[in-house]
Amino acid sequence: MGIEQEYVDRNPRSAALYAEASIRLPSGVTHDARYQRPFPIYVDHARGAHKWDVDGHELIDYVMGHGSLLLGHNHPVVLEAAAAQLQKGTHYGASHEAEIRWAEAVCDLVPSAEMVRFTSSGTEATLMALRLARVASGRPSILKFERHFHGWHDYVISSSSYGAATPPGVPETTLESVVVVEPAMHTVRETVAARPDIGTVIVEASGAGMGAIPLAPGFLRELREFTAQQGLVMVMDEVVTGFRWSPGGVQQVEGVTPDLTALAKILAGGFPGGAVAGRADIMERLSFPADRKSSKVGHPGTFNANPLSAVAGHAALRQVADGEAQRLATSSARTLQAGMNQALREFGIPGHAYGDASVFRLLLAGQEPPEGRAYNSSEIPVALAMAGTPPETQRLLNLAMLNGGVQYFGNGGIVSCVHSAADIAHTLDVWRTTLAALRAEGHL
Ligand code: PMP
Repeated sequence: MGIEQEYVDRNPRSAALYAEASIRLPSGVTHDARYQRPFPIYVDHARGAHKWDVDGHELIDYVMGHGSLLLGHNHPVVLEAAAAQLQKGTHYGASHEAEIRWAEAVCDLVPSAEMVRFTSSGTEATLMALRLARVASGRPSILKFERHFHGWHDYVISSSSYGAATPPGVPETTLESVVVVEPAMHTVRETVAARPDIGTVIVEASGAGMGAIPLAPGFLRELREFTAQQGLVMVMDEVVTGFRWSPGGVQQVEGVTPDLTALAKILAGGFPGGAVAGRADIMERLSFPADRKSSKVGHPGTFNANPLSAVAGHAALRQVADGEAQRLATSSARTLQAGMNQALREFGIPGHAYGDASVFRLLLAGQEPPEGRAYNSSEIPVALAMAGTPPETQRLLNLAMLNGGVQYFGNGGIVSCVHSAADIAHTLDVWRTTLAALRAEGHL
C-alpha cells in the first residue's frame, strides 16, 4: 500500500474532523504550518514527549508546542503552578506579583535584559521591539534578512517562509520601510551606507527559519560591532533560541549582546506569551514621563503578563535555569541526527540531518553525508539549505513518519529534555522504514 493511502486508512477520525473544520476554518487550519494534505492529524491529549491522536495512535512529538515545550508536555512543575493559579483567577485586570517575578527571571537569564515588557506572542514582541528601536534610533526603516522569520505582522512577513516579497494585504508604504538583504556583512554595510533612513537591524539568532538556513560563524558578532559603530539598534529575535540554545539563549553562547531581544515560546512555559527585553534606556521609552506631557511609546494589551502565563513561565524559566534541560535536549537531538545521517549513508541517499542545539532539520538534497554524525547548520552550504527538500518528498516523508508514529514539524523537528533514548531509537527505526517507503515510491 502507498504512503498516502496508509495514512488515509489509519486516520479516519482525523479525516472526518478535517472535513468539518474546512467549513468554518480557512483550509481547515488555524496556523499555516499545520496545513497538511490530504488532512492533518487531530490530537486528543499529550504527555511528556508523546501525544495521542483522535484515532488512538501514540505519537512521538517533535513539534513540541512549536518550540515552547523544552520541558515536554505537562511538566509537573509548570502544571502545578498553572493549576494553582487557575483556582486563583486567570485575569485580574490589575498588576500582580507574578509578573515581577517573571520579569526578574528573564533578567537573571538573558544577558541583554535590563528591563522587560510582556506581550501575548512572539509576533507582538517583534512588533514592539521594532517600534522601540525606531524611537531610539530616530530613523524609520528596518533592515531584515532574507527568509528570517519574526512572526506575521506587516513589517516582517515579507521574505519569510510565510510571505512572499510583496505579501498580499501589506501596504506598499510599510514595505518601503523594510529593506530585505542576504545575511552577509558586505551587503549590510553597503545597504546601510545607501539608506540613511535605516535605524534598526533585526536578525533571527539561529539563522532563518529556526536555523534551517545557517548564519556564517561570527556573523552575529560582526553585526553587533557594525550596528554599535553606526548607531543602529540591533534587535535579536530569540523567540525560538531563547532559553533553548542555553539558559541565556544564543546571545549567551556567542557572547553578543543586542540592544533589544524578542522572546516568546519557552518564556511562557507552553502558555501564550512574549516579551521584549533589553537596554533600560530604550525600554524606558515605554515609561510614563514625569511631566505626563511628553509622548511615550504606547502599549496596552489585554493579556500582557496574564497571571496564568506569568506563573507557568516563571516556573519554566526556573526549571531551565541551570542548563541541564538544554543539555539533555541537545544531546538527544544530536544522537537523532547522527542516526539519521548514518541511515542516509547506508541507503545511499543524498541529504543531511543538521541543526543547532535541540532543533534539527532534514534536507533530502545535495550530497550523501560524508559521516554518520550530527552536523551543525554552519556546515551546510547556504544555497543547498535555501533550496531545501522537494516539497512533495517532504510531504510524503511527514505522512510516512506519522504512519510510523512520529510527528515532525515541517522540515525538521524540535526535541525536548524528556525525549528518551527509547524515543530516539524508535524514531530512527521509523526513519529507516520511511526512507525505504519513499524509495519504493520513487521519491529518493
Ligand atoms: N520569531 C521567531 C524566530 C519565530 O520562530 C516565531 C514563531 N515561530 C515568531 C517570532 C512569532 O512568534 P508567535 O508565533 O508567538 O507570534
